[in-house]
Amino acid sequence: MPNCLYCQQQNPPKQAECDNCGMPLPEHADSAPERRQRRFMWFCIWLTVFCGAMIVWLPRHLF
Ligand SMILES: [Zn+2]
Repeated sequence: MPNCLYCQQQNPPKQAECDNCGMPLPEHADSAPERRQRRFMWFCIWLTVFCGAMIVWLPRHLF
């Protein structure tokens, strides 16, 4: 029985949201941080590549 993190309400299995308060239950919320972390990792890679390209591309005598 998944317990709601917000109101401690017992919910039936395979329920996506809490019966009492409507917040997402732990089983479904668990996959979200990993996806967010991967998106953040790709953002860091993209930023690194972008900075590298800018360092090479921008004329140095302007600074
Ligand atoms: Zn709840």
